[in-house]
Amino acid sequence: MFKAFLIKYAEIGVKGKNRYLFEEALVNQMKYALKRCEGEFEIRRTKGRIYVDVLSDYYDYDETVENLKTVCGISAICPMIQIEDEGFEKLCETIVKYVDETYPDKNFTFKVNARRARKNYPLESMEINAEVGGVLLDAFPEIRVDVHKPDVMLYIEIREKIYIYSIEIPGPGGMPIGTNGKAMLLLSGGIDSPVAGYMIAKRGVKIDAVYFHAPPYTSERAKQKVVDLAKLVSRYSGPIHLHVVNFTDIQLAIYEKCPHDELTIIMRRYMMRIAEAIAKENDCLGLITGESIGQVASQTLQSLAATNEVCTLPVYRPCIGMDKQEIVTISEKINTYETSIQPFEDCCTIFVAKHPVTKPNLNIIRKHEENLKDVIDELVTKALETREVIVAAVDSEE
Ligand code: ATP
Ligand code: MG
Repeated sequence: MFKAFLIKYAEIGVKGKNRYLFEEALVNQMKYALKRCEGEFEIRRTKGRIYVDVLSDYYDYDETVENLKTVCGISAICPMIQIEDEGFEKLCETIVKYVDETYPDKNFTFKVNARRARKNYPLESMEINAEVGGVLLDAFPEIRVDVHKPDVMLYIEIREKIYIYSIEIPGPGGMPIGTNGKAMLLLSGGIDSPVAGYMIAKRGVKIDAVYFHAPPYTSERAKQKVVDLAKLVSRYSGPIHLHVVNFTDIQLAIYEKCPHDELTIIMRRYMMRIAEAIAKENDCLGLITGESIGQVASQTLQSLAATNEVCTLPVYRPCIGMDKQEIVTISEKINTYETSIQPFEDCCTIFVAKHPVTKPNLNIIRKHEENLKDVIDELVTKALETREVIVAAVDSEE
């Protein structure tokens, strides 16, 4: 029944003269989302509004809505009825049919909100409101008018064509990708880091990612899981360049030369250093991690301070104040949860000490890192040089 959608966007409406750029970024991301949908669509921008028109006879409504829901910057998706102007009586007939089909249970309050954008229409907005309201009350005796807090707000827009809508499906909100620079996500196979990437992408930030693996201690399957997660996040963020770094030799060197209870912290410091090097090479303005205070030994305030110390770029940690359940809820919403919980080993878990330090002393950590000085530069260079770059996008093969 719906052959068009009105796309509502919140924050980008207030950006003054940058609005054009924001709208353009939004439209680009919408095209990326609609490319994955069966059917032919046209995106139309008129007078500060964005519409999606369905051009083909066939399309899948649910699939289209699901994909539009991945476009950052969209606050709501409103499926619309679109009709030619064939007189007011015909309009009322269509509206009665629309309300009947859309709301099988008639126990609701409503308000009509007409907008006459085409001034040669014979009725004024207020008259349309009153007339259509009366027609609906006659047709459905159970429904009531509530002008303050209606359950159903029925919009009628009179333009060249006439649009009718009342359903608002929430989008992710935020801002369109590409309007806020780029950042580098440290993406592991866990639950938290994909959520962290999504949260920052939602603010309009383009993301690339780095994954540290430790073959043969971590498997090809574990790596594939991270590629899969990157693809899932890319539904929202657009294509992600995933840098896969071989971390084995660095981990072995740390294992050999540093106290085992400090392994995780020292390892995390090298992850951050390497991620930052790749970030800077790729014009990223910050790093993103899935860390959350107190979740594990390496995420106490002392540990976070020790990890943070090696970075000069800002590190964004959108999950920092969230409980695990809050993070899980978001991961379910963005559909990464099922993949994240697949049981594959992670390079952080293979060499872990039984009793890792929870309050690392920076001076001591630095001193122990000195033990690595003969080998580490070369190992880091090699890790950077041998990295593999995979483009993770929704439509990429594999
Ligand atoms: P996650 O669920 O994201 O894996 P976690 O609770 O397992 O997080 P840690 O393993 O301590 O926590 O990792 C903290 C953060 O460090 C992760 O959220 C991620 O950003 C980064 N990280 C950890 N391991 C890796 C890895 N192998 N490759 C890339 N980044 C990693
Ligand atoms: Mg992890």
